[in-house]
Amino acid sequence: MAKVYFASARVKKWRYEDSMPGKLERLLREAGVSKQFEKDEWVAVKTHFGSEGAHRIVRPVFLRKVVNELKSAGSKPFVTDTVRIKGLDYLEVANQNGINHLSVGAPVVIADGLYGHDNVMVKAGELLGEIAVASLIHDVPAMVVCSHVKGHINAGYAGAIKNLAMGAVSAGHRHCGWKCGRGAMHTMGEGKFVWDSEKCALCYQCAEVCPLDCIDFEKDTFNYKNERCWRCGRCTRVCPEGALSLPGDDQLFMKSLAESTQAVLGTFQQNKVLYVNFLMEIQPECDCMPAAEVPVIQDIGIVVSSDIVAVEQASIDMLLKAKPLPGSLAADEKIKEGADILLELHKKPYILQVQEAERLGLGSPEYELIEIE
Ligand code: SF4
Ligand code: SF4
Repeated sequence: MAKVYFASARVKKWRYEDSMPGKLERLLREAGVSKQFEKDEWVAVKTHFGSEGAHRIVRPVFLRKVVNELKSAGSKPFVTDTVRIKGLDYLEVANQNGINHLSVGAPVVIADGLYGHDNVMVKAGELLGEIAVASLIHDVPAMVVCSHVKGHINAGYAGAIKNLAMGAVSAGHRHCGWKCGRGAMHTMGEGKFVWDSEKCALCYQCAEVCPLDCIDFEKDTFNYKNERCWRCGRCTRVCPEGALSLPGDDQLFMKSLAESTQAVLGTFQQNKVLYVNFLMEIQPECDCMPAAEVPVIQDIGIVVSSDIVAVEQASIDMLLKAKPLPGSLAADEKIKEGADILLELHKKPYILQVQEAERLGLGSPEYELIEIE
């Protein structure tokens, strides 16, 4: 049975050891970071840099604690993410959100190069076939996956699986484009947009949010550059009128997340990846959106495990016990206490990603919870 270490976000004593950064240090020690990672071993600290307006990411202070702990073990950590917008701009987003060498104490690098083309095609499951894993993540021998747990318009729940499935692969491949990258998961279908001219208010929010300037509205009609488009889905997510969609299959999407995660983890030896899930600032949407909404669930704490299925199952079990926060989207949607808040918000069968990860042999949903006081 997997061990899952947990520290509550509640502070009962006013001393550093009982602060969240202090508790994270203790969690990492309890989880055995010094035994899992070796002297001089390069370790990727995989996080999500956020977006220019989405500030509710894993805070730099926590990344710093992970880096410090890895350095204490003699390892050589670096903080990384893949290109979501153009690489140079994305590094500036990281900097603006407080993630830089000075703040986190280690180099901050893009895992798939400034153009997002540095990747290695890795065999994935029967749905994806192959997927373009970021070359830095493919090559590095060890990794700590720092995931901000939140909701997600497509995945319903986004934690460690989503962080790796989408975030450790490129948006596309140099030759085979979006079909070999995360767009293959986002669409799980033809990858063709459906635009409803009756519903469209010509607000152009979709065009403004596109990282590649793919969209124009010549003659008041939605047009996009098919070859250039990553199928990242940002444009569809921000449409306030529901006029734009990339039709896909929810069940296949969840399963493809697990397949992609398996492909990424297949590039590591056993027990060389540690998962740190931050159940804090649990907003309804992804960190890549143009803004961060207020949290729908109160801060719960930090969950750490070497088993990706266990860390996800434990995080979900905690979310299921949480109450919807007043003044949030959960309250707007009249979600009641005791309900599955993320399921009610997004109506996506998110647990499938965890079940599929278990089926693929990535871990076990059975866990022993060890809470540090
Ligand atoms: S899916 Fe939309 S936002 Fe993303 S690259 Fe294509 S057109 Fe742009
Ligand atoms: S965001 Fe939606 S409503 Fe606005 S222009 Fe695009 S498709 Fe039309």
